[in-house]
Amino acid sequence: MKAAELTQFKKALLELREKLMENVNLMEDEALGKSGHEASGNLSNVPIHMADVGTDNYDRDLTIGLIQNGEDELRAIDEALEKIGNKTFGLCEGEGCGKKISKARLTALPYVKLCIECQRQEEGTGKS
Ligand SMILES: [Zn+2]
Repeated sequence: MKAAELTQFKKALLELREKLMENVNLMEDEALGKSGHEASGNLSNVPIHMADVGTDNYDRDLTIGLIQNGEDELRAIDEALEKIGNKTFGLCEGEGCGKKISKARLTALPYVKLCIECQRQEEGTGKS
């Protein structure tokens, strides 16, 4: 891959990273704010009105799920940035693969780790 292209991907990754960090921070605030708000004893959050608490927990679980996704994504972005540094960026991490990931795929998702074939296999929809 050309240096200019790498620079572009790096820029895209850094921008994504920034946005994602912001989102994760916001969601963390929300998740923490909620639990701190409605229950005084934050950790041992004993439900009183089951129905209300149920939806609240659902919301919070959802938010926590999103935070975890965001953190996974951040990790993937960091790894991708590292790979730009050691010049393995854009190569598939699938076992025994190591093929170049298509540029279209990288442009859509610069921190993607697998080529389309490996991705399909991993999702179990491939022809293995
Ligand atoms: Zn692959």
